[in-house]
Amino acid sequence: MLIEKFITYIARKKNASYLRFSPSAALSVPPKVNDSPTLLYVHIPFCEELCPYCSFNRVVFREDLARLYFEALRKEILMYRDLGYDFQGLYVGGGTPTVLIDELALTLQLIRETYHVTEISVETNPNHLTDRNLRTLKEVGVNRLSVGVQTFDDNLLKIVERYHKYGSGQEISERLRSTQGIFDTLNVDMIFNFPTQTLEILEKDLATLIALKADQITYYPLMVSSSTQDVMSRKMGIVDYNRGGSYYAKIVEMLSREYRTTTAWCFSRTESPIDEYVVNYDEYAGLGSGSIGYLGGSAYSNTFDIRDYISRVNQGTLPITAKRDFSLQERFRYDFLMKLFGLELDLKYLSAKHGVGAYGHLWPEITFFRLVGGLRKKGKVLRLTETGQYYWVLMMREFFIGVNNFRDYCRAELPREA
Ligand code: SF4
Repeated sequence: MLIEKFITYIARKKNASYLRFSPSAALSVPPKVNDSPTLLYVHIPFCEELCPYCSFNRVVFREDLARLYFEALRKEILMYRDLGYDFQGLYVGGGTPTVLIDELALTLQLIRETYHVTEISVETNPNHLTDRNLRTLKEVGVNRLSVGVQTFDDNLLKIVERYHKYGSGQEISERLRSTQGIFDTLNVDMIFNFPTQTLEILEKDLATLIALKADQITYYPLMVSSSTQDVMSRKMGIVDYNRGGSYYAKIVEMLSREYRTTTAWCFSRTESPIDEYVVNYDEYAGLGSGSIGYLGGSAYSNTFDIRDYISRVNQGTLPITAKRDFSLQERFRYDFLMKLFGLELDLKYLSAKHGVGAYGHLWPEITFFRLVGGLRKKGKVLRLTETGQYYWVLMMREFFIGVNNFRDYCRAELPREA
């Protein structure tokens, strides 16, 4: 427990420094200089209703604004082509990307005509698993559909304010069952460690998932940013981080009977094209309002103000408003975090990538995690142990909380109607 607290503390400090964006850094993306596979992340920030625990970049859906947004997004997509970029993978996240299916289809068609994408992953919610939507998504080449479920427990669904939007646990599982088999991979997003979620509720959810034979399950730890903490505590109670380890152990115990662990929090029955794009791709461009990209060793963020986003793109400029050029040491640490999130890191690969020995830059981290039983080293390859998997869940949780805090900070700067 002490080690977990220490890891959480260090991860929080390090992540805060990653997200200290420098206003002086040139607000553009670097020209494409190598052939490394690059992913295109596209953000659709609209949701029909907002969930109280959610700190993603999302706003309440308004059709007129959303249509203008999609139009601008398609212009931004073409700007990257003009900068010499090509993409092999596409991840559409939200918000709720399927909120306007005709606009999404047009956008995916444009991307397929412009780039050599072979893997397309789209997020959605259970109420959008309609025949029309599924047919459209299939026609435009979606390989992986990821559905936000969080839990099948009716009481918990009511507490997290999803029951009235997406139906009961039974209705959600029926929708999932009829979607299974349409795409190469159907992923179900779940959350563990909600305040009122008991171990029994978790076990029942796991049993439901196993019975459904979902292709892939992503079990996120609850991630609450500073600003949603108050709303969360008021509506749902206090999060007990101390029990996270036992909940995670239960997830691994039950899922490992039928699933392979593919990242610290993702479990697959199939060879899925994209589990976590930060693992599968060294570089990704972030398009859409509030998207964060990582290209050529720099992290950058687009404006969070949707109207400002539309206006900047319509004027022909990239909507980037913050950027941070990582030092070599920070690049090594970033790769160490992301690659091991995918369970394995080849130091030889990392040394070749950066043109200088990886061990010389990472020996304190490697030594620490080997000492606390989180890492095994075989030759030049590092691999997470089962204990290490949970350490990485903690570190990635802190990484995403850091990202969410950054978003909250940016959103607080916006005019109210944005
Ligand atoms: S959890 Fe999903 S549906 Fe709910 S507000 Fe966040 S992005 Fe929207």
